[in-house]
This record gives sequence, structure tokens and C-alpha cells, in this order.
Amino acid sequence: MMNVFNSLTRGVEELKPIADNEIRLYTCGPTVYNFAHIGNFRAYAFEDILRRVIQFNGMKVKHVMNLTDVDDKTIRGANAAGVALTDYTKTYKDAFFADLKKLNIIPADVYPAATDHIPEMIALVESLVEKGVAYKSDDGSVYFNVRKFPGYGKLAHIDFDNQRTGQRCAADEYDKENVGDFALWKAWEDSDGPVGWDSPWGRGRPGWHIECSAMSMKYLGETFDLHTGGIDNLFPHHENEIAQAEASTGKPFVNTWMHCAHLKVNGEKMSKSAGNFFTLRELLEKGFTGREIRYVLVNAHYRQGLNFAFSALEDARKSLERIDRCVDALEKRIDPAAETPDFVAKALEDFTAAVNDDLNIPRAFAALFELVRETNASNTTAKGVLDAFKRMDEVLGIIFFGKSEKEDVPAEVASLLEERAAARAAKNWAESDRLRDAIAALGWVVKDSREGQSVTKK
Ligand code: AMP
Ligand code: ZN
Repeated sequence: MMNVFNSLTRGVEELKPIADNEIRLYTCGPTVYNFAHIGNFRAYAFEDILRRVIQFNGMKVKHVMNLTDVDDKTIRGANAAGVALTDYTKTYKDAFFADLKKLNIIPADVYPAATDHIPEMIALVESLVEKGVAYKSDDGSVYFNVRKFPGYGKLAHIDFDNQRTGQRCAADEYDKENVGDFALWKAWEDSDGPVGWDSPWGRGRPGWHIECSAMSMKYLGETFDLHTGGIDNLFPHHENEIAQAEASTGKPFVNTWMHCAHLKVNGEKMSKSAGNFFTLRELLEKGFTGREIRYVLVNAHYRQGLNFAFSALEDARKSLERIDRCVDALEKRIDPAAETPDFVAKALEDFTAAVNDDLNIPRAFAALFELVRETNASNTTAKGVLDAFKRMDEVLGIIFFGKSEKEDVPAEVASLLEERAAARAAKNWAESDRLRDAIAALGWVVKDSREGQSVTKK
């Protein structure tokens, strides 16, 4: 039984699919105006763990993640660079997918881009205008009237009596002090330059919030299971998504909402605006691996703030080496006939209980390290132990099995290896040794076996 904390009810509940043993999951994706920072990736790594735990429990997942490729920031960036919006955002979409791969994040089933769904958004805004919960302002923008939707504030638990409603807020992002009618459609302005679409209200573009309501319902239905994001998405973004969807359909929008806490630096939220961020690329250039960064991002409870520190990445390297050494040695001594020792069932039981207890990943890691300890101490040869590591890694995604083949070998090392294979085929042993030293100078050790050569990091 998989239990999770639901931000909507503020309680821990069992996660159960509405239909077909499948959890329909929507996660708010990146605004593609720049490279994502590792704070953003904390949210995506949390969602990856969530998805893997659902599957670990035998349920299927249909996962949709949007790409925000039109908003104030993307328009400003494209116009400042003097390039078309689609060209500008393509660079960052591509970078985002490459980064997800580095972090071993399972791709979503669909990545709808906002600019491909303008008609769906216009239709949703039209239905809200027809129902009388949205209105056109003098400048040709359309606003959602929050006083016409009685449920407004139920996610953020806002006490409406103490709020100054009746005001309007054109910006996509605002705080609880500025609750008011929010923009569904924004009339074209000079600063939008060439960006704009025709609509029943004139030329303009969608607000940020309408995109997620329109695209999630298109791909997952009017009522679906699970919606997530970083805690900063809870208000106003997710509150507004609920208002737009439920005011239009009259049905509950989402059963379970989950939010992860922030990645921080010196106690402050990591963000572009505070300037205290690292992109994934920057950390990779410093010599850390995607696997080490993943380890740090997931090995904290998702509802607790996590302070980023380089020392944590160094600790991750040591912990991963410990796992690698154990799994490596175990793989080499496997005896298919050996019986599975008793400690395996206990480790798996502890692991399962931890992940099903609102994704308690630190406790799950403790179960994994207990398995490492017992494996080393017993010197077991049982394949059942290796299977247990594989089962745990379905959730964690950080173990390299058959390490030498799987390691992320840099292009330079790979090309030296190819040369060395050719030298060996030509029985040019002096050249083969020279290349071995060249590879060693780059920090990699070559091993030769009957299957050919393989490399591991020093
Ligand atoms: P954005 O591109 O700003 O819309 O953010 C994309 C995702 O990253 C959202 O789910 C945000 O809530 C999340 N996010 C942004 N900054 C952080 C942070 N420092 N820690 C955790 N999640 C974050
Ligand atoms: Zn969203």
C-alpha cells in the first residue's frame, strides 16, 4: 500500500488509481528560457522517484509534463536575442532533455508544448467566459473572477475574508498578499513583438496557468489522479489550475496534489533571480557525475528543505563507490545454484515500507546500505542478492550493474579505446601499452578479458 501526503487534504493517504490500475500524473515542467538549475532538477528528480515508486507497486503510470515555451520570460529572451520564439526555446528544450538523461530521469510519455495548444486554451477561456466566471477587461485581456468560484483558496488554504480581492493581477507570478483576479488571456503589447495569436478577444497570448489546465485535461481527462510540482507552484499556479478546470467542467480536477520542498543555498531558495544557482552543466564541468548529483537530490525527504553543498556531492561519490564495490564483486562471484540468504527478505521489506511511507528515500537508502553490509560480511554468492539490488534500483536509479560497460565513458577515452582495439587486433603490443597509459592519464583503468577490453574509473 503506497501512502503519500496530499497537499489538498493535508493528510497522508493511500494512492489509488481512479481506473485501469494506472495513475495519470501531470507534473509542471520547465519554462524554457534558460538552462534549468539543480533546484528545478530537485523537483524533477522527486517526480521521477514518485513515478518509479508507483511502478514498483505494480501500478502503471501515464506521465505528462508540459514545456512552457511562451510567457513573459521566453518572450523577453527571444526578443532581446532578436530570434524567433521557437528558435530561442528550442535550444533550452534540447538542453533540458539532455540534462534529464544525465540524471537518469525516466522520460514522461508526453511533453506538450504550450505553443502547440493555443486553440485548446482559447476554448477553455471561452467556456469560462460563457459560464460567467471570466470577463474581458478594457485592454482586451481576459481575467478569471475569483469571487465567482467558491472553492478558490482550497489548495493553499487561504482565508478569503482576510484577503483584498476584487483587484487584478496581470503577472503570472504573485503571492498571497496579492490575491485577485488573474489573467487567462493577455492582450498583445508592444513588448511582445512578433509573438501573438488571434482570439475572440483580439490578438494576444495565454496566461501561464491556463496552459496547464488545458493540456493536463487534454491528455489525462477532466478528473485525474495526481498532480505535482515544487512547493512554489502551489500558489498561485496550482490554485488557479483548479479554479480554471473545475469552474469549466463542474467536476473535481485532481485527487492528489504533491509538492516538493526547495533546494536551498545557505538557507535561501536556489533561484535564477537570487543568482545563487548552479546549472547541471556547471556541476558536470566541475567533474561531478549525473549519478552523484542524482544521489544528492533524491537522498533527502522530498518535503524537507535540502541545503546544497559540495561536500554532499563528495559524500555521494564515496557512498556510490561503496555500492559499486559491493555489487561489482557480487556480480563476479555469482553462483546461480546458491540459496538466497535470509537478510535479503528483511532488506527488501524495510526498503518497501520506506518508499511506501510517503517516499521516505533516506530510510530506503538505509535498507540498501544494510544489504551492502550483509552482502560484504557474508560474502554471499546468491543471485537473489543481486536481484534485490536490482529491485531497489528500480526506484533509486543509481546503481551501475555490469559497471564497466555502463559507465559514462568520455568521448576522448572511447576514441582511445577504439584505437587500442585496432592496435591489439594488429598485435601491436607497444602501441596497445602506450594507449593504456594515455587512458590511465585521463583517469580510467583498462581491463582486458576474453570478451575484449573494458574501462572503469580510477
Ligand atoms: P520553473 O521553470 O521556474 O517554472 O520551475 C520548474 C520547476 O522547478 C517547478 O516545479 C518549480 O517549483 C521547481 N523549482 C524551482 N526552483 C526550485 C528549488 N530551488 N528547489 C526545488 N524546486 C524548484
Ligand atoms: Zn503547471
